[in-house]
Amino acid sequence: MNNRFNQLIQYNLSGLGCWLTVIFLALFLGSVGLGWVVNGFLLLLGFLLLLPILIIWGLQWWLKRNLIQDHCPVCSYEFTGFNNTEFNCPNCNEPLEVISGRFSRITPPGTIDVNAVEVKAISLEENTDSSTS
Ligand SMILES: [Zn+2]
Repeated sequence: MNNRFNQLIQYNLSGLGCWLTVIFLALFLGSVGLGWVVNGFLLLLGFLLLLPILIIWGLQWWLKRNLIQDHCPVCSYEFTGFNNTEFNCPNCNEPLEVISGRFSRITPPGTIDVNAVEVKAISLEENTDSSTS
């Protein structure tokens, strides 16, 4: 137990020593006249730290601009789609596109309605045929 605690302290001290070495190295380089190396390194470090934040921020901005949540015009199922893309409704499989922030059907509305009626008529006929025979 005590031994483990000592190991923990040693580990922490080695970590601290590492940082102290970096700081001393930075001070040494600065005093020698290579301060620009330290500045460049710090600039790079800051850039590397800022880069993921910038990427996430940019991605969120892009998603806000391009993700559109709306209702399917056919089955009024609510889902999200990308702007300026063509996609199918996940509920009724209707091909849709985004026009000025709203989902709209690619095919003319009349044709799909007629097709749906035809499918229903065929299935009804089949049912009546099977019941009579
Ligand atoms: Zn739909």
